[in-house]
Amino acid sequence: MSRIVYVNGAYLPEEQAKISVFDRGFLFADGVYEVSSVLCGKLIDNEGHLARLHRSLSELDMATPASDAEIETIQKTLIAKNGVDQGLVYLQVTRGAADRDFAYPQGVAPSLVMFTQNKNVIDSPQARNGIAVIGVEDIRWRRRDIKSVGLLAPCMAKMQAKAAGADDAWLVEDGYVTEGSSSNAFIVSAEGVLITRQLGNEILAGITRKAVLKLAQEQQLEIEQRPFSIEEACNASEAFITSATTFVMPVVSIDGNPIADGKPGRLTRRLRELYIQAALDSVDEA
Ligand code: PMP
Repeated sequence: MSRIVYVNGAYLPEEQAKISVFDRGFLFADGVYEVSSVLCGKLIDNEGHLARLHRSLSELDMATPASDAEIETIQKTLIAKNGVDQGLVYLQVTRGAADRDFAYPQGVAPSLVMFTQNKNVIDSPQARNGIAVIGVEDIRWRRRDIKSVGLLAPCMAKMQAKAAGADDAWLVEDGYVTEGSSSNAFIVSAEGVLITRQLGNEILAGITRKAVLKLAQEQQLEIEQRPFSIEEACNASEAFITSATTFVMPVVSIDGNPIADGKPGRLTRRLRELYIQAALDSVDEA
């Protein structure tokens, strides 16, 4: 079934939606994006996603295409037009269309594209059973804090994982895990300490990561924000990833080694429940 998508001011059937061949998103990956999840037809944690969008735009000296209120109206209109109950809204801003030149063009209007995707975010076999990951060298650029649409390196990492019979990759730089191919990475030590890498240019500041750390704090869990190696993760008692569309997803094996008994961990399942409950509560309030 054809979706209604949004392109630069117009709501169109997806077949009719067009972007210029001169768009710098197409030519240079000169653009940034955000993905907000949708539960019961409502946006989850959207304020955080819009705040991060502004940060990405400002790091790249890119103009803001619309106010937050306008963006949110478009997101909600797409959810309604496409009847999305569970899934996501994707949003992309590029520097716009101009003659091909490495230097940023001046006075060009940014492009704004948005679309929805249906996805079963609450109940999936992977959420129930956990996923297998492998360590893959992190060959991405050094500004992973910017949510750039230049995503070929994580695509390659994910394909390497699939070729090895795993579900996803944990990216490794200088002997330490940076993050997942499209998620933040967490482990729980034998002593019950929740460990995830500290923020910096090396990783994306996940909106779900932040929410989960807050929930963990409320549960009086001990938290350490520091790098960890694949070896430490293999010996952990639990492992999981976080992202807007996977929430808290258990990791049950790393490089073929089962984590503990090879089943989703207790704390992981608890944090997933708490995150979903908080998301559902926010939907009720909206
Ligand atoms: N790191 C990377 C590299 C990602 O692509 C994503 C998801 N887009 C995340 C972390 C998780 O961020 P969020 O929780 O905001 O979806």
